[in-house]
Amino acid sequence: LFITLEGGDGSGKSTQAAELERWLLEQGREVVRTREPGGTDFGVEVREIVLHHRGDITPRAEALLYAADRAHHIMTKVRPALERGAVVLQDRYIDSSLAYQGAGRDLGIGEVRQLSTWATGGLLPDLTVLLDLDEDAARLRLDASRTRYDRLEAEKSAFHRRVREVYLELAAAEPDRFLKLDATASVSSLADSIRARVSTLL
Ligand code: C5P
Repeated sequence: LFITLEGGDGSGKSTQAAELERWLLEQGREVVRTREPGGTDFGVEVREIVLHHRGDITPRAEALLYAADRAHHIMTKVRPALERGAVVLQDRYIDSSLAYQGAGRDLGIGEVRQLSTWATGGLLPDLTVLLDLDEDAARLRLDASRTRYDRLEAEKSAFHRRVREVYLELAAAEPDRFLKLDATASVSSLADSIRARVSTLL
């Protein structure tokens, strides 16, 4: 079972991944919790470049770096885990690239989807949890978190609006794959909703 978590910075993806992992372990499932970019040693290096390179990275180069991370991650870690029956809980996947590179960086959803499909051999999640946070709520949360403040300041709010719009469009287009939740709900009620959906898939 392949589950991905999507949403903007500060939407609570890692908290919910941890909650879901704890519950799945209680059910006796093997869980592989991972993320993109940075789910492998190679990916950690790519993450460093793509998030902390001192100069600008052109949009296509950025998209290729995320795709390289993803190709390696899926081949070496995710597919083997799925093949042995583990539940993979992954923070960000293809939908992040559609939203951030496709819309945020204006590369176009179609081409970025093609790139990701090629990179992964077409592997799609069984379930994608979208933690949707509107712009004001996102800003409030991030202002409280110093480490993320600079990045938010560096990126424009129009960028975040485009990212959120695409996430919402993707969720509307594939309602069977997506579980869209309002990220301002409490941690425990979000965890309940996610468990309810996941238990139908186990
Ligand atoms: O959620 P995480 O901390 O891994 O994301 C780090 C940042 O990487 C995000 O805030 C986002 O700006 C960026 N990102 C991106 N495109 C992706 C994945 C992440 O721009 N495909």
